[in-house]
Amino acid sequence: MTARKRGILAQSIGAAARRAAAALAPGQWLAVGVLGLSGVAAFGLAPNTTLETVATVEVRRALPPPALQPIDAGSAGFWREERIQRGDTVGHVLSRLGIDDAEAMAFLRTDPAARPLYQLRPGRPLVVETDDDGRLLQLRFVTGTGELLSIVRGGERLAAATTAAPIAAGLKLAAGEIRSSLFGAADAVGLPDAITLQLADVFAGDIDFYKDLQRGDRFTVVYEMRYVEGEAVAAGRIIAAEFTNRGKTYRAFLWRGADGTEAYYAEDGSALRKAFLRSPMEFSRITSGFSNARFHPILQTWRAHRGVDYAAPTGTPVRATGNAKVAFASVQGGYGRVIQLQHSGAFSTIYAHLSRFAPQVKPGARVSQGEVIGYVGQTGWATGPHLHYEFKIAGLHHNPMRVALPKATPLPERVMSVRAKALSR
Ligand SMILES: [Zn+2]
Repeated sequence: MTARKRGILAQSIGAAARRAAAALAPGQWLAVGVLGLSGVAAFGLAPNTTLETVATVEVRRALPPPALQPIDAGSAGFWREERIQRGDTVGHVLSRLGIDDAEAMAFLRTDPAARPLYQLRPGRPLVVETDDDGRLLQLRFVTGTGELLSIVRGGERLAAATTAAPIAAGLKLAAGEIRSSLFGAADAVGLPDAITLQLADVFAGDIDFYKDLQRGDRFTVVYEMRYVEGEAVAAGRIIAAEFTNRGKTYRAFLWRGADGTEAYYAEDGSALRKAFLRSPMEFSRITSGFSNARFHPILQTWRAHRGVDYAAPTGTPVRATGNAKVAFASVQGGYGRVIQLQHSGAFSTIYAHLSRFAPQVKPGARVSQGEVIGYVGQTGWATGPHLHYEFKIAGLHHNPMRVALPKATPLPERVMSVRAKALSR
């Protein structure tokens, strides 16, 4: 892709994000303005592009005001800023800032109010004002919890105070292509982990992020970021997202209902949250990624034992794929330590070879979709640690990788139509 084309793309995506920002009015489609984004993103991420040529754009809506103005107009000090480096101590940073002030150092070491200063995070700025002799006049630092620590010299005394810092909200847009794992792609475009996990959660009804991901899958996400003193301190919610998995594109838009509840919908208004998650594996850095062995997971093993196996380290959390009542949680032959969940509408799911159960999982107990019910192991007939997962409708096995899963609010006759669909494949 030529540089000029990339420039045009960046502008288009930027414009889409600005439309998204304008659409942030409460009580509305939070991301209706970003609908045009999808086409742009699809163009921007043409199949033969590489990560180097994929346009990745960061857009901040509201730039916070310049952070650091001397409060005392009569102050004649020098303001300096230093970024915290990996392995820094408070002493190191202050010495780089030219502070030569034993009294201030003693204060910072001993005063309890100055303690947040010791939560040094690489990349964060520390700002000081000093006088001609290197004496500390003021210090400002955004703490790990997003508060503003200020230390001010009043006369001969230093005083520290931590206050709630004014928070500016902004929208960011990131787009990436998967080469080895979702987290790898997210890291490459600076997507915070919290947003990566949300992304997997938003599309969990449609995509098995453990088995379905392929090299070349793409995502575009518009999300909130909170800024304190110009520093990104916390990621908020995903406002809109697009995920292309194995050539099929899914889109999600955050919608806030009149009662304030928020949920994600596709552009045709259908809910993204389904009655079942595609994968019983809790998505994390551990379960992110794929190997060639997972590229064709579907039928060979399925025919052999009527379930789907998820290889994962012992102890990896396993989650209920739908709301259910625990029908069985015990040890049973080849299954080893196994849980059977009974869902509404004649659906049941089985999770086998577990190393242990979650404490609340007892026969008769209710569990919610996404709740961790047990942990991967290799009990029973298992040659290595893995989860064996079965999906049954009215007692009959169905391949959970292929079955058409019911919608979030199933009608009574849905069971039969889903079953008919699954059987006709
Ligand atoms: Zn199995």
